[in-house]
Amino acid sequence: MRFDELGLAPELLKAIADEGYTQPTPIQAQAIPIVLSGRDLMGGAQTGTGKTAAFALPLLQRILPFTSNSPSPARHPVRVLILAPTRELAIQVYESVVTYARYLPIRSLCTFGGVDIKPQIEEIRRGVEVLVATPGRLLDLVEQKCLNFGQVQALVLDEADRMLDMGFIPDVTRIIKLLPAQRQSLLFSATFSEEIKKLADKMLHAPTLIEV
Ligand code: AMP
Repeated sequence: MRFDELGLAPELLKAIADEGYTQPTPIQAQAIPIVLSGRDLMGGAQTGTGKTAAFALPLLQRILPFTSNSPSPARHPVRVLILAPTRELAIQVYESVVTYARYLPIRSLCTFGGVDIKPQIEEIRRGVEVLVATPGRLLDLVEQKCLNFGQVQALVLDEADRMLDMGFIPDVTRIIKLLPAQRQSLLFSATFSEEIKKLADKMLHAPTLIEV
């Protein structure tokens, strides 16, 4: 399997080539066609398997038809929301998104707690298509009324098992309720406990299961 057989845009293939990736990892080869088709996904994968590109590449591709070169913030609503349990993981995912989107007119932002919220609010007001966030800070931003989730097409819950361990599931559940019901949802977890399966039931619609 080669990246150029997966149906990704030339701009994405160029960014992948820049990174020196020669072929998709197993999770990428399995997940990319599923995510491109718009289906929900439950992915069993650890960090280091290439799971970030497995969801980021096809989601960037899916929002591509809706992107704009216009500077107007209104033309850059949040379309993809990625939740990560820690600041470190959120930054890592964000950096991957920026790398893969480098040739696309897509704005990305990473928000996490423990730092001043005001610059994050200002950045959101300027318009951002891909928002990577930790759950607590995202809810703080919701309270600030600077976020509109009306155009969210996809939700990614990364490292759901760590979210659970860290007590974030109530926050995640609150966030899910704020999103459009008509959306694509992806959940990644290294393990699938009963609690993760319960969360998946609430969050995913007829998901395809992939384990690597
Ligand atoms: P992840 O599991 O998403 O944290 O990715 C682990 C590492 O693998 C990151 O440093 C990626 O840049 C790298 N990576 C992801 N996909 C590929 C690929 N297809 N070929 C080579 N390296 C990759």
